Amino acid sequence: MPTILATGGAGYIGSHTCVELLNENFDVIILDNFHNSVPEVLSRIECITGKKIKFYNCDVRNKENLKKIFSENKIDAVIHFAGLKSVGESCKIPLDYFDNNVSGTINLCNVMKEFNVKNLVFSSSATVYGRNPIPYKEDMPTGDVSNPYGRTKYIVEEILKDLYASDNDWSIALLRYFNPIGAHESGLIGEEPNGIPNNLMPYISKVAIGKLEKLTVFGGDYDTKDGTCIRDYIHVVDLAKGHTKALDKILSSSGIQIYNLGTGKGYSVLEIIKAFEDSTGQKVNYSIGPRRAGDLAANYSDSQKALKELGWKTQYDINKMCKDTWNWQQKNPNGYK
Ligand code: NAD
Ligand code: UDP
Repeated sequence: MPTILATGGAGYIGSHTCVELLNENFDVIILDNFHNSVPEVLSRIECITGKKIKFYNCDVRNKENLKKIFSENKIDAVIHFAGLKSVGESCKIPLDYFDNNVSGTINLCNVMKEFNVKNLVFSSSATVYGRNPIPYKEDMPTGDVSNPYGRTKYIVEEILKDLYASDNDWSIALLRYFNPIGAHESGLIGEEPNGIPNNLMPYISKVAIGKLEKLTVFGGDYDTKDGTCIRDYIHVVDLAKGHTKALDKILSSSGIQIYNLGTGKGYSVLEIIKAFEDSTGQKVNYSIGPRRAGDLAANYSDSQKALKELGWKTQYDINKMCKDTWNWQQKNPNGYK
C-alpha cells in the first residue's frame, strides 16, 4: 500500500484522517511541530487502529528536516494539513500566517519536487469562495476573501495550479472543507482548541460541560430563516474519509482536482443549538449578541462533484455530529491533558 506523509497529522482533521488512512491500510507517517496539538494524539490514533505510526517532530518550514524525512522514507503522497487556522488571529499576525501557510507550502513542494514525490492533497477551505452565490460550486471564481487566513488558502491554491501548469507530472487535490465538527465515536480523539474557542461547536460543548457560562450567538438579524447565520457542518470522520477517496483519485491520475467536502445542507446557529440539546439532553445557555465582523449570512456546498468523481458522500447527520462532540467532551473534559 502507498505510504502517505501527513503534515499536521496530529491536529484535529489530520488525526481523524490518519485513523481512516490506517483503516484503509495505507502506511502513515505524521509530521507535526505540535504548535496546535499534543503528542498524546499519536498514541490515541494507535489505540483506535491497533497500528503503529511513524512520527517526526518537524516544522514544514524547515527544509533540512523535511529532506531527512523524504530521504529516510519512500513517500508516495503527501496530505498537507499543517497550517494556522484562526481567522481572528490572522488579522493580528498576518505575517505569521503567510509564513506558515504559504512559505511552508512552497518549502514542502520544493522538497517534494527534489525527491520526485508529486502527489499532493491540500487542505483548503470554503472561505476561498467569499461572496459567491450559494450553494458554492467548484468552478466559481475564488479570491474575494475578507481576511489573511482565507487569503493564504487562496494564494496556495493559485500556487499549486501554477505548479501543475509548469509540470504536468504533478497530481494535486485541493479539498475545500466546509465546517468540520464532531469527533471519532470512540471519544479518544477530537477537537481541543487552545483557550476560549472561536468556533461554534467547541464553544457549545464547553458551555454544556460548564466550563463556559453562556454562548453568544453572533447576530440574530441576518436575512435567513431565523435570523442567524447558516453553515454547512460536516462530521470530521466523513471529512476524513473524503481524503482517502481523494488520494485514490490523485494516485491514479494527474492534474489539479478541486472538490468541496461538505454535506450540501445548511443549518442555522439556532438549529445547531437545538440539535445539540435534542441529541445530548444538555441545555445550552445562550443569548443573541451583535454580529461578528466578517461573517457571511449563509454558505453551504454543492457536493455533487465529489459524489460523481470520487464516489464520496457524507454518512453522518447533525445529531451524530452533536452526539460525538459531546461524547468526546465528556470523556476528555480537559482535552488531551
Ligand atoms: P489543527 O490546528 O488542529 O491542525 C493543524 C496541525 O498542524 C496542528 O497539529 C499543528 O500543530 C500543525 N502545524 C501547524 N503549523 C505547522 C508547521 N509549520 N509545521 C508542522 N506542523 C504544523 O487544524 P485542523 O482543524 O486540523 O485543520 C487542518 C487544516 O485544514 C489546516 O490547514 C486548516 O487551515 C484547514 N481547514 C480547517 C478547517 C476547520 O474548520 N477546522 C476548515 C477549513 C480548512
Ligand atoms: N458563532 C456564534 N457564536 C460563537 C461562534 C460562532 O454564533 O461563539 C456563529 C458564527 O457567527 C457562524 C457560525 O457560528 O455563523 C459558525 O462559526 P464558526 O466560527 O464555527 O465557523 P465559520 O463558518 O465562521 O468558519
